[in-house]
Amino acid sequence: MKTAVSKKLDQKAEKLIKENNLSLTESRKNILGYLLKNHGPFSVEEIHNGLGNKACNLATVYRSIAQFENSNLVERRYLGDGILRYEYKDMKHHHHHIICRICKNVAKMKYCFVSEIEQMVRDKGYSDITHSLEFFGVCAKCKAK
Ligand SMILES: [Zn+2]
Ligand SMILES: [Zn+2]
Ligand SMILES: [Zn+2]
Repeated sequence: MKTAVSKKLDQKAEKLIKENNLSLTESRKNILGYLLKNHGPFSVEEIHNGLGNKACNLATVYRSIAQFENSNLVERRYLGDGILRYEYKDMKHHHHHIICRICKNVAKMKYCFVSEIEQMVRDKGYSDITHSLEFFGVCAKCKAK
């Protein structure tokens, strides 16, 4: 069951790479596959470590992530500690994060309430608008300690 899902996501990674006119290499497929299977967001080093025995060298991970970012397949996330992290940019599941200041756990917040603000920005004549909004707090587990 688990491997079936995993295989499907590998195929999805392959499809996305081809659709974006990037040449399909084993490392690109593994890196994008990893981001499809795991939410993250991850730093380049974390992706590199997470790939385990599928790992390619770190420079390749950096290069691939930069290419994916240019192709709008991944997006950069800033979690307030100066480290750049990336996650798969899923247009259909736009979301924000809440990060625990103590244990650094990252939870997804599925809802977005800023469409009205985006409309205001659009009214000012801007197009191709994106936004970035993350929340920080102390999670219930950490608070209980
Ligand atoms: Zn916590
Ligand atoms: Zn996310
Ligand atoms: Zn949003």
